[in-house]
Amino acid sequence: MSIVLALVCVLGILIVLFFIGMIFYLRLGIFKTLYHDLLEWHEPAADAAQWSDGCSQHSTCKYCGKDIMMDSQGNWF
Ligand SMILES: [Zn+2]
Repeated sequence: MSIVLALVCVLGILIVLFFIGMIFYLRLGIFKTLYHDLLEWHEPAADAAQWSDGCSQHSTCKYCGKDIMMDSQGNWF
């Protein structure tokens, strides 16, 4: 068992935890400090108006109330 193999295993586990946390954030809004505050993944408010400026979709973040835009992959920033 080499140290490199051990590091790859730890990294893999961290990536899996990151994606599990991401699902919890998107579904339940927990881990907001990590995903919203540190990574700045904003979430549109369900009752906020969404509008288009012709090339991108705009909305309002449900956590910080900032104006956010959707990129071509459907992610809000
Ligand atoms: Zn926000």
